[in-house]
This record gives sequence, structure tokens and C-alpha cells, in this order.
Amino acid sequence: MVIYMKYELVAGLETHIELSTKTKLFCGCTTEFGGEQNAHCCPICIGLPGTLPKINGAAIDYTIMAGLATNCEISLYSRMDRKNYVYPDLPKAYQVSQFDFPLCKNGFIELSSGKKIRINRIHLEEDAGKLVHKNGDVYVDYNRGCIPLIEVVTEPDFRSADEILEYIEKLRLTIKNIGVSDCKMQEGSMRCDVNISVRPFGAEKFGTRTEIKNMNSITFIGKAIEYEYARQCELLDEGGKVVQETLHYIESENITTSARDKEDAQDYRYFPEPDIVPIVTTAKRVEELRQSLPENPFVRMVRFESDYGIAAEDAKIIVRYKLIADFFEDSVKNIKSPRNAANLIISSLFRRMPTETEKEDFSYRIDAAHFNELLTLLDEGKLSANQAKTLFEKMLDENKSPHAYLTEADLTAPDDGEIEKLCRDAVDNNQKSVEDYKAGKDKALQVLVGYVMKATKGKCDGALVKETILKMIS
Ligand SMILES: [Zn+2]
Repeated sequence: MVIYMKYELVAGLETHIELSTKTKLFCGCTTEFGGEQNAHCCPICIGLPGTLPKINGAAIDYTIMAGLATNCEISLYSRMDRKNYVYPDLPKAYQVSQFDFPLCKNGFIELSSGKKIRINRIHLEEDAGKLVHKNGDVYVDYNRGCIPLIEVVTEPDFRSADEILEYIEKLRLTIKNIGVSDCKMQEGSMRCDVNISVRPFGAEKFGTRTEIKNMNSITFIGKAIEYEYARQCELLDEGGKVVQETLHYIESENITTSARDKEDAQDYRYFPEPDIVPIVTTAKRVEELRQSLPENPFVRMVRFESDYGIAAEDAKIIVRYKLIADFFEDSVKNIKSPRNAANLIISSLFRRMPTETEKEDFSYRIDAAHFNELLTLLDEGKLSANQAKTLFEKMLDENKSPHAYLTEADLTAPDDGEIEKLCRDAVDNNQKSVEDYKAGKDKALQVLVGYVMKATKGKCDGALVKETILKMIS
């Protein structure tokens, strides 16, 4: 990011996340992505006169869960409001949203620096339809209309593009982890609006802000912020003034362009939605939802390091995909070296699922019980790391137990007598290494141990071999 020494970036974020309820917010239509245009609609979700909406209880629960996962206070009394505006993507000419009584407020997400990004509120609303531009004409598709959406609004706490990108990634993982949204940015189920202003370093007063709307790619969000920050700094340097406005980021040209004048809140003429009763929740229900939440992925990451002794970098990659992290935990029950599991998952399994979606969906057919058998064989020293890797690849091809590929002879580890004999061979055939070891070169011992491990194809306990050899030569 180009740093203009004079100016500090001040930014806030509004993130829209579509909830993955089966049906829409006020009717029984499906929320499935895609489909023939206007096929997932009914008189209620296109707002025909005389229809009555009925609120989807699952959407309320999901919103509360999102609030709990982001450290919010949950309002036991909340209400839906009408936000009035005229635009073709909204057939009723109002959007049912929440204004002064949102379901969740005063939360935060902590960045790796320890800085807390405050979440002002999370409210529930309905999504609008989608305009489709084709051959110079504009069509409207209401399939997306009335899909439940939450809007997560932060305070203007961001001071760099990096902080914004880390926050988006943390929010995405957190919400996806609790299963209330698939958070697929490429399908638009997670979209961000960024408010940006700049001010001289040390100043308290905020500058005039602009808002870049509707971005759904991490890469472009980063670029758009950098562009807009530089544009405002240059404008101020030239003696100009930033105008409060809504902008669109044009990805192909890496510029922002003016969209429509920013409406002030009162222009929407919010008023309570008369067709939906206020949402009243009990503390008991909130507690039940809190108990139902899975472990937070960032807490899980730290636990993976301490409980299973796997490297921080590996833990981070695995917890990123909840289903794979679950598979890992199911597989390492009673396993002495869970590190072997992490290595095989990252080296072999991940390679077969190159895209993010494949890893997130983890539809690969491999039983944790079979993987556990393989890890047990490794623990018992009956397989070398290389043999285990080869076997794991076969298991991934066919989803069979490792025993399906092994004969009795493969699994028979040499007994103590045989190990003793092999250690003797190692010493006799490597006198130079024995002398080196005695002369203080500790590494020379590895040659002797390696000799035995190779002769048994790794099917014996390295520590026992080391001990036996040491007894012989000291
Ligand atoms: Zn409908």
C-alpha cells in the first residue's frame, strides 16, 4: 500500500451474509443458488398486495448464533422495520430490515495483533433481487429476493487494508464454522461495503467518507481500498475536497466511479413493519443456542497445537476447513503421534482437493476409522513413513482399510532377537561410524540406526534400535 505520510486511513465495513436457511425469510420458497430466473418466487416474496409475510424462525436463530460467535450482546426484544426506497430489484418498494432494534449489538472480532475491531450491530433483513444486463436491456431476477441476510456493521476501527482483509477472513471462517452461511464470496453470499475516509495523522476529527459498495472478492477489496485511499490523499493534497458519495469499484480498470448520491438515514423513512410482530427471545433460548455452537476455529487451532502437538502452521491450515478438522480429530483417537495424521492430510489429501470449495465441502470418501488403523500401524512401528504414504494414497483411491493391502508378512515386525542381530551387523559393517561416534560425532550414530531401519523397511522401533546399538558400542 502506498503510504501517504500525512494521512491516516479510517475505514469501517458492512458485510452482508446470506443465511443458509432452506427457505426464504417470509415464505416457503427455496433459497437455492441459481435456477431458472424468477422460478424461486411466490406472491409473498415479490410482495403482491394482500399477501402476508411470516418470519422464518431459523433465520432468527442463525442471526443470534452469528451474534454469539462474534461476541455480541443479544437483544431479547427486537423488531423488523420497513426501509423505503424505489429500485427495480425491490418489487415492494421497501425492504424489510431492522433499524433501531437489531438482534445483536456491541460485539467484536480480535485481530492477530490483539486489536479488537468493534461490531456495532448485526441485523436481519431480506435480500433484494438481481438486475441482469443483457444486449443493452436490463432484466430482473427475483430468485434472490427475500433470502435472509445478515448485515454485520463495524465501527470505523480499521487503519489499513491489511486489517480489513484479516477481519473479513476471520469473520468468514467464524460464520462458516457455525454453519449459518456458506459464505461463498464468489457466489455473492458474502459481500462487503467499505466506508473510507482519511485524516491527517494525529487528528481526531474524521474526514468526509465515501462508500464502495458490493464487493465480493478479497483481492479486489484490497485493491479498491488502496485505490480509494490514494485518490482521497491526492485530492486533499491538491487542495480539493472529498465528496460524500457511493462508489462502485470497476475491477477491470482498478478505479472507483460515482454510483448514486448517498442517502441519509431519514431518506429511507424507516418505520416498524406492521405485518410482523416484534421478535421476543428468552435468555434461556439464547443460552441453548450458545451451547449449540461448535468450537471457534481460532480456539480450536490453539488446542490442536497443545492437544496433538502439531505445528502451528499445520493446525492453521487444517482448522480452516471444519469438516477436515473434524476428520482429523476423529482419526487421531488413541493415536500416539497425531503429527503423522497432519502430515498425511496436508501432503496427500489436500493435493487431491486443489480448490477451496473442494476442501470446504470435503466430499472425499475416506473413513476416519480406516485412517485410524493406518495411524495405529505407524505408531506401532509396523510401517515406515514412506510405506504409510503409499498406502494412504491407495486408501484414498478406494476407501478401504489399510489391512486390505497388507499381508501378514508385511505386518510382522522383527522380534528382539532379529533386531539384536541386525544391530550387530550394523556395528560390524560400519566401523568408521562407530569410531566417529566414539570420537564425539553424535551424528554418526544415525548411520548405524539407519542401517537397521533400512534392513527392516522401517518396521521396528527406532528408539529400541538406538538403545541396543549404544549398549554394543559403549
Ligand atoms: Zn416466495
